[in-house]
Amino acid sequence: VEKSAPIAVCLPESTEQVAQIVRWCNSNQIPFTARGAGTGLSGGSLPAMGGLVVSSKRLNRILEVDVENRRLRAQAGAVNKRLSESVGTFGLHFAPDPSSQSVSTLGGNIAENAGGPHTLKYGVTSQHILEVTMVTVEGETIQLGSCVEGSWGPDFLSLIVGGEGTLGIVTEAWVRLTPLPTAILTALIAFRTVAEATISVAEIIASGAIPAALEMMDEGILKAVRLAFSLEYPQEASALLLVECDSTGEDAGIKTDREMEIVRRIAAKNHALSFEIAADAAAQAKLWTARKKSVGAMGRLAPSIVTHDGVIPRSKLPEMLAFVYEVAQLRNLGVANMFHAGDGNLHPCFYFDDRDPDQVKQVVEAGEMIARKCIDLGGSITGEHGIGVEKIDLMSLMFSEQDLELQARAKKIFNNGSLCNPCKVLPNQKSCVEHKSRSRGVSW
Ligand SMILES: Cc1cc2nc3c(=O)[nH]c(=O)nc-3n(C[C@H](O)[C@H](O)[C@H](O)COP(=O)(O)OP(=O)(O)OC[C@H]3O[C@@H](n4cnc5c(N)ncnc54)[C@H](O)[C@@H]3O)c2cc1C
Repeated sequence: VEKSAPIAVCLPESTEQVAQIVRWCNSNQIPFTARGAGTGLSGGSLPAMGGLVVSSKRLNRILEVDVENRRLRAQAGAVNKRLSESVGTFGLHFAPDPSSQSVSTLGGNIAENAGGPHTLKYGVTSQHILEVTMVTVEGETIQLGSCVEGSWGPDFLSLIVGGEGTLGIVTEAWVRLTPLPTAILTALIAFRTVAEATISVAEIIASGAIPAALEMMDEGILKAVRLAFSLEYPQEASALLLVECDSTGEDAGIKTDREMEIVRRIAAKNHALSFEIAADAAAQAKLWTARKKSVGAMGRLAPSIVTHDGVIPRSKLPEMLAFVYEVAQLRNLGVANMFHAGDGNLHPCFYFDDRDPDQVKQVVEAGEMIARKCIDLGGSITGEHGIGVEKIDLMSLMFSEQDLELQARAKKIFNNGSLCNPCKVLPNQKSCVEHKSRSRGVSW
């Protein structure tokens, strides 16, 4: 809901061109903001102070595939899904799989430390990045991390992954490749109530099982998904769980069956209405399309959506969802939930019309209520979408002044100025008064 236009968009094709652009911005005191596919959900690639947008659209090559050492080198603008597609024939993949993976970029995934349905078992982006090439805020080119596993050195890479593009512009990365599972079972489980589904999630994790994915969709999203993808489930269902169990190795089939049996027992105990296992790879793919494209399907419900993001302990999911529905009712907004339930990572999507300033105000306030509730329940204001501009004012709810000061000092290691992606993540940046005074959510 925040909007700001750049003065120009640059489309560099090489690290050297990015470095030239950044040096020019420094000489002319022009702010610059990196942009991948623009799918970020906290306004990270918004050019808050105008200036240049440095797009990675043409930095999109896969440069090296090293099957022997299970690693791959690509430019930052390479689309996530292409990384896995390019090594699938070798039985490998790039494990982080945000639902936006058919368009979002490696650089955007790195900047946001993106998660995804399968990161419950395989870990988020930071666990799969070995080394980055980065243009610093002054226009120098540096390498951080190491393409050789376990090499020594201070772990600066872990600041860059999740740095939301505020510490420099990543132009290339070496990523770790993971073997593809040899046995996969995907189940769609329907429940009469949201509480039965969320209690099942907490119990599955408590049982010690670690499904590859454990995703939830509620009634609001099911309306859209049923229309868009003709997904079939019992009429009286208010919630669906999409659960995938997988394994590799000789007894992969047995291990996967065993894990799915645990899921089946817990679902039955919580009165599941149906439990369907996808018959083949095509049926599995259909279920994942419905889940991963579900946000797009919401275009059928209203002109605009804001997808919120927070994390809570999984045992608090029933209480949290009840609160989300209360907030939607109070603010007179449509709401749908689809999220990585296994991680306790919540995504309430409010749908509304952003041409109506009052609806925008209600959406913004509803989001803030949800973020506060996440903190009250012992969670965090973001799980995977980052702080960006959206949650900058909420940082002080989660961190003390000393914490924020320490974060500001850590940022200064890489960015001691105000040109690189200004007005993001850390509150009270002096140069951002003008940005802050602009009204939020006006459509133009
Ligand atoms: C339908 C949908 C589903 C989604 N599902 C998920 C999900 O499952 N998991 C998840 O984590 N997120 C998800 N997202 C959010 C989003 O896709 C991710 O945050 C993604 O990593 C953003 O990538 P991008 O290329 O679009 O980056 P952008 O939105 O263009 O940019 C995001 C941030 O990265 C910075 N950036 C981009 N490129 C670079 C670079 N080369 N160097 C330095 N900084 C850079 C930008 O400045 C900005 O701060 C979803 C979004 C949508 C729309």
